[in-house]
Amino acid sequence: MKTIGLLGGMSWESTATYYAHINRQIREKCGGLASARIVLHSFNFEDVVALQKLGDWAGAATLLTEAGKGLERAGADVILICTNTMHKVAEAVAKRLTVPLLHIGDVTGAALAQAGRKAPLLLATAYTMEQNFIKQRYAEKFGIVALIPDKKDRQSVHNVIFGELCQGVVCPQSRSKFIEIVEKAKQAGADSVILGCTEIGLLVGEQDLCLPTFDTTALHAQAAVAFAMDEMDMTFRQSA
Ligand code: GLU
Repeated sequence: MKTIGLLGGMSWESTATYYAHINRQIREKCGGLASARIVLHSFNFEDVVALQKLGDWAGAATLLTEAGKGLERAGADVILICTNTMHKVAEAVAKRLTVPLLHIGDVTGAALAQAGRKAPLLLATAYTMEQNFIKQRYAEKFGIVALIPDKKDRQSVHNVIFGELCQGVVCPQSRSKFIEIVEKAKQAGADSVILGCTEIGLLVGEQDLCLPTFDTTALHAQAAVAFAMDEMDMTFRQSA
């Protein structure tokens, strides 16, 4: 089994989900007392958010690269950035690493394409919804054009992520809001939903929503397990 390197703590609420998903799947595959070989670098999320707010993406790339190199030295065979937003610097980080970086956009795009979905609603931070670093990846590699909510709803989703989910708070009112946003998107032609922020699965899942749902945390974790077990489809194998 290969060793999975996680750049986590962005926020730790979702890193805990990665850790559980990955270990559970390894146990299902290998049985008995088997668990995943994982090395984790967990950031103080305040440091990362400070760089996001300053727009210091070069600084963020350096921070993640140094931590990624540490994971390599600790034996990681593959690196995952456990957040969609910080994939804004994925290419810069991947270039400076020796082992492959498993890109969350590739994993998600491949799952959508395999399911024949062409018009997903992307729910994520404002960075991910409004900028191109993930949407362009879906479009260029998989021909998938992601839709996003209107400005007011984007603001609500962003605020729920940082003000609630990343702080471990799950509110029924926010769940209702997300359900309503997805219903509106369905009427506007969306054929699926991407939970494009690694904490959103703590709030809603396919059981709550009226469209097929693609949870980036679950998909990314599943791809890491496939890599570790040498079962990975070539689509995901490339670095960023
Ligand atoms: N985990 C979130 C994401 O997937 C947001 C936290 C961050 O800004 O990295 O985008």
